[in-house]
Amino acid sequence: MSAVVVVGSFNVDHVWRCDALPAPGATIAGQYHTGPGGKGFNQAIAAARGGAATTFLCALGEDAGGAMARELARQDGLTLNAEASDQPTGTGGIYVDSRGRNTIVIGAGANAALSVGFIEAQHALLASASVLLAQLESPMDTVEAALASARNAGVTTVLNAAPANAPTSISLLKLADILTPNETEFASLLARHVGERLEPDDVAATDGSTLHQLCRQLLPAGTVVITLGAVGAFVSHAEDQLRGDTQPYYRIAAEQAQTIDTTGAGDAFNGALVASLAHAPSAAFAQHVRFANRFAARSTEAEGAAASMPRLTPEG
Ligand code: ADP
Repeated sequence: MSAVVVVGSFNVDHVWRCDALPAPGATIAGQYHTGPGGKGFNQAIAAARGGAATTFLCALGEDAGGAMARELARQDGLTLNAEASDQPTGTGGIYVDSRGRNTIVIGAGANAALSVGFIEAQHALLASASVLLAQLESPMDTVEAALASARNAGVTTVLNAAPANAPTSISLLKLADILTPNETEFASLLARHVGERLEPDDVAATDGSTLHQLCRQLLPAGTVVITLGAVGAFVSHAEDQLRGDTQPYYRIAAEQAQTIDTTGAGDAFNGALVASLAHAPSAAFAQHVRFANRFAARSTEAEGAAASMPRLTPEG
């Protein structure tokens, strides 16, 4: 039995560290390394290292990347149920500059073939979980099937609405008990589903009451957690669903970190959030966010995405 089920992507990441991100037409030098990535896998590793019994549902090619995913999952005690695909395992090309900023290109490969049928066949697993976590690097109907299956079984559903350009629908968003966009994703969801314009760079400085109203329009019956990078996170609850908190909306400051690479910080936050939710379902929600901030801050102190996840549980 798994406390946490994560549905999503696995990529083999190819990473170049450069002084500055390459401009169009430029050829520059960088230091190369490769490793595991994909929002789904990163978040599943974070949940597992955050102490939760975790199963990861994904699609893998019959290639070296697929074998890498299975071996790394085994090393972290992560249960991996993969749909076999005739597509290559997903890939990511990542540039990181000397300030820790990144630019990423994804080749979805097998991730784009994760099917509704495969998820439906996992219903018993989904129904037995405490929390389901999904992102938007899988086909939208597959994500929707996973959220619906968990929701119907009374499992807490968390949707990390990333990446920002994913073709979301209101029906998909409504299946989330908790929605966790970053600033860019929040701005994009507002533009698409609420008809409001807010620049990503202005989200952190927007007053809490305004942000709360926008979150209520976006997800009237659920909780929205906007991650704000080095600033921390903003939380907005539906009035009748405070999840143990006393305030309907609040900010929680980020933890201090010696940041060298923010790749996967959002994934760290999401994995840690669900690990904490599974560990103490009735704790005040702010406690889960504080743990997620702590875990994500630590993840920025090491290079890589999945590789940078700390071993840090809600107890210690
Ligand atoms: P994403 O990686 O999706 O863009 P964010 O940049 O919002 O996500 O970061 C997610 C979380 O990681 C933040 O809410 C915060 O807890 C933590 N974090 C990110 N950058 C830093 C930083 N420089 N210092 C401390 N914590 C950070």
